[in-house]
Amino acid sequence: MSVKKKGLPLHTRIFVGLLAGTALGLAGKAAFGGDAWLVWFAANIANPLGQVFLRLVFMAVVPLVVAALALGVSEIGEVGRVGRVGVRTLLLTLAFSSIAVLIGVGAVNLFKPGVGLSPEVREKLTASLQSQTVQTTLENAAKKKTVVQTLVEIIPKNPLSDAVGAFDGGLIPLMFFSLMTGLSMSLVGPEKAGPLKAVLESLLAVTLKIIELAMGLAPYGVAGLMFSVAATAGVEALKMLLGYFLLVMAALALHLVVVYSAALAVIARLSPLRFFQDISEVMMTAFATSSSNVTLPVSLKAAVENLKLPRDISNFVLTIGATANQNGTALYEGVTVLFLAQFFGVDLTLGQQFTVVVMSVLAGVGTAGVPGGSLPLIAVVLQSVGVPGEGIGIILGVDRILDMSRTVLNVTGDLTIAACVSALEKEEK
Ligand code: ASP
Repeated sequence: MSVKKKGLPLHTRIFVGLLAGTALGLAGKAAFGGDAWLVWFAANIANPLGQVFLRLVFMAVVPLVVAALALGVSEIGEVGRVGRVGVRTLLLTLAFSSIAVLIGVGAVNLFKPGVGLSPEVREKLTASLQSQTVQTTLENAAKKKTVVQTLVEIIPKNPLSDAVGAFDGGLIPLMFFSLMTGLSMSLVGPEKAGPLKAVLESLLAVTLKIIELAMGLAPYGVAGLMFSVAATAGVEALKMLLGYFLLVMAALALHLVVVYSAALAVIARLSPLRFFQDISEVMMTAFATSSSNVTLPVSLKAAVENLKLPRDISNFVLTIGATANQNGTALYEGVTVLFLAQFFGVDLTLGQQFTVVVMSVLAGVGTAGVPGGSLPLIAVVLQSVGVPGEGIGIILGVDRILDMSRTVLNVTGDLTIAACVSALEKEEK
């Protein structure tokens, strides 16, 4: 999915925005230091530019969560009826996503890329990032609840009021409502659920369009956000951002090389090297387009022609996988949320880290296979553990390259599952 414009492709323009914003911000800070006008410019021109972009994405969150999760779950529910292939696909999806998140979360805990920001820099950043929401979220996070209370409150009394208060802690109950809706849709059967499914599909398409339009503003939004981070926080924060970036890339690479290779060798009994060679075109398409959905036709072709997998199984696994199996995205969500928590000095208990793991796996299922598809869901996971959603502004500058890379993992994961399920089916015969 890309906003079609003549000239440079979107990802190149975002990259130019990233470099220009960072360079101008650093230059401004070096030349004028803490001059009042530079601070004013960052807070009143550059940062609002980024906020406009972020808000356009945020406003799509509620309809997106409801439509994507309900549809995703109802499809998996139908898949359940397809029997063995469906169950195996589901189990492998959950297993790969969980391992991916655990690798990411383990790496952040080990290397702590977001720890150590000096309090003044953090204060400046928080102030420049839209103080009011940050304040409410921190206040909400400070209101301690018992574990039982937290668990019971996952079930909403009134999903509509949770939708209204989505950014003040209502998103998890809303997600629960969407999951239940999807489950019940698959239980009442296609005839009764059909009309609702059509409405949700249309809602999803329209919401994704909003995000696509918002992505058109991304180059300017990213330039504005990077300018204000660089001009207010300077090199210190940028170094952390670089640490975060390298950590995500290393964790993605680890999952790709170790986990997929092991699954291919042990379950699918294929040579991993050969497999990666056979799907290299798919991986390149995913990298270039940042979209599992756009890459789907290329992976369908590679599965049948290069990997020689049975057509019915690959069609089934790859189509579901393009939206439901997003290992790279799940890993990235886990790392990002913990990184931003460290960045903002929010201490997460083991229980909260567990919430992040579960939510990241769910977010992987709920993410649409489009560029930036996971951004709205990051906000959801962030809010759930009391980290300001606007924190996304900090990582957004480097997000596009990470998006391209995690998409490679997302589609490689789909093909790996297709290969594993095909091999298991063959053994069964
Ligand atoms: N771009 C990713 C995909 O299409 C989704 C995301 O993580 O934003 O697979």
